[in-house]
Amino acid sequence: MRRMFRLILAWLVFAGVPVVAGGADRPNIVFIMTDDHAAHAIGAYGSHVNQTPNIDRLARDGALLANVFATNSICTPSRATILTGQYSHINGVPVFNRFDSSRMTVARLLQQGGYYTGMIGKWHLGSDPIGFDRWEILPGQGVYVDPLLYTATGEHTYIGKYVTDVITELAIEFMEKRPRNKPFFLMVHHKAPHRPWEPDSTHAAHFAGRRIPEPVTFWDDYETRTDALHENQQRVAADLTRRDLKLEPPPDLAGAERASWLSTKPNSVTIVRDGRTVTLTGEPLVRWKYQRYMQDYLATVQSVDDSVGRLLAFLDGNGLSKNTIVIYTSDQGFFLGDHGLFDKRFMYEESLRMPFLVRWPAVIKRGTTSHAIALNVDFAPTFLDAAGIPVPREMQGRSLLPLLRARTPADWRTSMYYRYYHDPGDHNTRAHYGVRTLTHKLIYFWKKDQWELFDLVNDRYELHNLYGEPGQDKLIATLKAELYRLKEALGDKDQFANEQLPNGVDGPVAKLRGK
Ligand code: CA
Repeated sequence: MRRMFRLILAWLVFAGVPVVAGGADRPNIVFIMTDDHAAHAIGAYGSHVNQTPNIDRLARDGALLANVFATNSICTPSRATILTGQYSHINGVPVFNRFDSSRMTVARLLQQGGYYTGMIGKWHLGSDPIGFDRWEILPGQGVYVDPLLYTATGEHTYIGKYVTDVITELAIEFMEKRPRNKPFFLMVHHKAPHRPWEPDSTHAAHFAGRRIPEPVTFWDDYETRTDALHENQQRVAADLTRRDLKLEPPPDLAGAERASWLSTKPNSVTIVRDGRTVTLTGEPLVRWKYQRYMQDYLATVQSVDDSVGRLLAFLDGNGLSKNTIVIYTSDQGFFLGDHGLFDKRFMYEESLRMPFLVRWPAVIKRGTTSHAIALNVDFAPTFLDAAGIPVPREMQGRSLLPLLRARTPADWRTSMYYRYYHDPGDHNTRAHYGVRTLTHKLIYFWKKDQWELFDLVNDRYELHNLYGEPGQDKLIATLKAELYRLKEALGDKDQFANEQLPNGVDGPVAKLRGK
């Protein structure tokens, strides 16, 4: 009998039938993540500034989660959190420091659980990917044009190609060449729409001269807010460089002089408008900067939307759609002129919120929407749950499958904890931690000992800091109790609160091949 069983098992393996837990119906997972794509630049989230028909298809044919939040709104930390299901203070990546990829990650667990795993595109964790059968990554931030990508053993520069197209084509190649006897897990990580927002010529032409509406908080004067907003340096008005604005350097400049010119933040700009040369300063210059920033940002988003369309077409055309989970998200949100800002980092809504759209026709009903609070620590448990693999206790998130099935558990979280560390750091954004509930947000800038409190129901744009105003004491006490409860429950013992961690994480890949 036992011999017969062994024979059958051997035949199953030989025939390519999966024999691990979960069986043949385990879903494939395609996780598409962009860098810095704010939810409010996606049609399905009600964008006023662009249209994203392909990304929107995921919401129409599947689910849209309206309240997904980053636990530390910055690139490298969010990536480490997504892989580990842990907050920054547990996974050891609070700023742009190196991720120890020998740690437990969702990729390793899926690989061990019988998945064929792949990582294509922007990795940005300083160490080489582990837990992937195939990987091909940009070094550090990577570049938009003629991108160089590394594999474990080789490298290739894609001359004449645009980074979003390269990543898309490599993702399709991964799926084409995959072994057919395993489900697959593919992370497709785009560089776009990260700074310096360099679109390809087709999409640039599409947005050239288009007037993008300014957000309602564009001229926010920061009245009632603490020092942090006043001191920050990610303002459209003052902090976009000539490189960001795509201004052409004088032809006689070269080398360090040229680089210096490009990195300068201009107070006046001379342009040709309607055939006349005009010099812009003051308010007209700020409005012009916003347009230049957004035209390029949105053009790079459009290349991503095309990419999603190509990936969906591949899945649809290869009979893979029904049992493949396709997720679209970004590593955090972004300010699109909101509060006069670009970039992210702050716990304010535009930066905190991550887009999260999922198609999985076998399980998710078309047009599902959830407003429950979900976090990037939940992604890894979700993948494992879908794959039928136990979620390790060290993971701090919770599977989102119940929300995707439109059945929110009664004990689902009603508040979330956030912490940003990079201070002193780029853009002079002050370190802070805070709590967001379904109705309120309390932020503590711990190095300043200053607080902000917002009523998200009556002040959705977070313009009025209620902290210290009469009549708020009871609310503040309740929110502080919740803040410290979460902080303790999540094991945040101020591990990295005052540590100066090394910045910049290019390499290894054998220290980028001996550079
Ligand atoms: Ca990012």
